[in-house]
Amino acid sequence: MIEFRNVVKDFGDHRVLNSANFTIRDGEFFVLVGPSGSGKTTMLKMINALETATQGDVLVNGKRVTDYNLRDLRFDVGYVLQAGSLFPNLTVAENIAVIAKMKKWRPERIKQQTEILLDKVGLSPQEFMNRMPQDLSGGQAQRIGILRALITRPDIILMDEPFSALDPMSRVQLQELVVDLHKEFKTTVVFVTHDMTEAVKIADRVCIVHDGNIEQIGTPHDVTHHAATDFVAKLF
Ligand code: ADP
Repeated sequence: MIEFRNVVKDFGDHRVLNSANFTIRDGEFFVLVGPSGSGKTTMLKMINALETATQGDVLVNGKRVTDYNLRDLRFDVGYVLQAGSLFPNLTVAENIAVIAKMKKWRPERIKQQTEILLDKVGLSPQEFMNRMPQDLSGGQAQRIGILRALITRPDIILMDEPFSALDPMSRVQLQELVVDLHKEFKTTVVFVTHDMTEAVKIADRVCIVHDGNIEQIGTPHDVTHHAATDFVAKLF
């Protein structure tokens, strides 16, 4: 589904990613984890061509991201940012509809899907459809951010520290929610976090990144029980 082939990224003379080579499988929940500044977000942004590789290739469905029409690529690859990324001047329903509208979905279809999805994440459609983002809690806003990405069923969803601004309780609820949604929709998810506990809790496989190097890729059990490097051993 997603492949990094000898990918190097420099910002000026600062190398932030050293020759990354790995494959993310179709339907996998793949978590990039590591300290702040290690290159996780840069890797994530290369998947939807918000950043381009200095050397090497990133492939989505066997095709180089640089060969895609950007609009097509971004339709196939949803993006969920940190809490607070809703459009403040749009209602909940209008926020969820943004990408579906760009894809020319009919309003009835958007409304029907919005209601189904709101129910699924425990928010009553009647109560929430017409709310403004400022009247939502952090956890509620982030549920809406996830639904906005999910409604058109993209092949891949990228999530960049989506729960970092939430209180611990909301965080745990949202972790469980994304795992459930992933089980149901089988979307490939690439999730960035600096929180090791979160990573091993939600991932099918974890990719540990440190200073632009991939230290280890493995299941939560692998990385916690069979550390490949001293850095990984110290983390756990
Ligand atoms: P992480 O997501 O692991 O915190 P990032 O991928 O955001 O790490 O950043 C990796 C490194 O690249 C950091 O040193 C950061 O300052 C640098 N960096 C990120 N984006 C840019 C940019 N647009 N220009 C210059 N340096 C950048």
